[in-house]
Amino acid sequence: PATWLVYCREGFERDAQAELLYHAAQHGADVKGVAGAGWAGVTRTDGGTANALQRGVAFSRLVFARQSLVALPALTLSRDDRLSAIAGQVSEAGWSFDSIWHETPDTNDGKSLARLAKALTRPLQGLLKKRGALRRKAGGRRLHLLWLSGSQVQLGMSFPGNRSELAGGIRRLRLPSRAPSRSTLKLEEAWHEFVPREAWDERLAQGMQAADLGAAPGGWTWQLVQRGMHVYAIDNGPMDKALMASGQVEHLGEDGFTWAPPERLDWLVCDIVDKPARVLAMVERWLVQRWCREAVFNLKLPMKKRWEEVQRCLSRLEYALEQAGVDAAVACRHLYHDREEVTVHVRLLTADMPDAESV
Ligand code: SAM
Repeated sequence: PATWLVYCREGFERDAQAELLYHAAQHGADVKGVAGAGWAGVTRTDGGTANALQRGVAFSRLVFARQSLVALPALTLSRDDRLSAIAGQVSEAGWSFDSIWHETPDTNDGKSLARLAKALTRPLQGLLKKRGALRRKAGGRRLHLLWLSGSQVQLGMSFPGNRSELAGGIRRLRLPSRAPSRSTLKLEEAWHEFVPREAWDERLAQGMQAADLGAAPGGWTWQLVQRGMHVYAIDNGPMDKALMASGQVEHLGEDGFTWAPPERLDWLVCDIVDKPARVLAMVERWLVQRWCREAVFNLKLPMKKRWEEVQRCLSRLEYALEQAGVDAAVACRHLYHDREEVTVHVRLLTADMPDAESV
């Protein structure tokens, strides 16, 4: 298999592809870009396989990819016997796996294909079991069938530890009925993405102090309050009344770009719509001054070349932190609930953060 394929949000195929092209170049691989609605890939033109490429880039380091696969050439199927062509390609590739996922691109067309995929699930399982391709203990490898149309399917393989464990790479979250805005899901998804579940009690703990810049009407603040935190909500706009009644929120009508906290905090979150460079400069100041331990913020990307912009921003942030001697882990993802933006997470790794000292 010679293609490294990722799923992405529809409309972000060029960005996902630019990201893969960048990594392929770093790897010294000659490739050509391929893409369709909701997915992008690079196919090697130098005779090499895609496996080393796919394995060489940790899934968690990818920004626009929702899933990362090693893929075979797309198959065109005859409508009366779809199964044999699939089984044939699997045998030819010598693939074995212990699970099979049917998926469709995250597009309107994709949704109508889900029924077909469902109908084929059991018969295909039976056939691939009989051929020995689907078996217990195949190292956690998973066969993905990405249905592009009723007669076109793209086969791919994913590997444990280097993939999304979510169908379609999508984290569906229920909108809490009492949350003041839909944006609330962006912060919740960010926590799922960047804070391991077993660390939530320690890193998203009751009694922690947080700042939410650009907080109104309060979707993100609501998440912080749910975790039992005290929140400085910075925004000129009005905050949700029920949220304010929690008594855990201090609303200040100040400018988020210049406001400084009265003491060191645990969390900084920011959802202000402004130029990425401006948001970054502000977040850099917070981190260099160690005003917070962890931060989640959005970079809005109205421009065409989003991957290039994200890469510039992340390099700049990492460089600034390094120059200031701040040891930190930086991660960035285009979340399912993000639109024209990406979400960045930074965590200070220095153990010697003084507690609640005045700044
Ligand atoms: N995260 C919020 C939620 O979940 O409800 C939504 C935030 S909304 C996308 C952006 C907010 O940033 C607006 O309420 C706007 O008033 C605020 N804002 C814009 N510029 C700001 C600034 N310089 N300082 C503070 N807030 C600002």
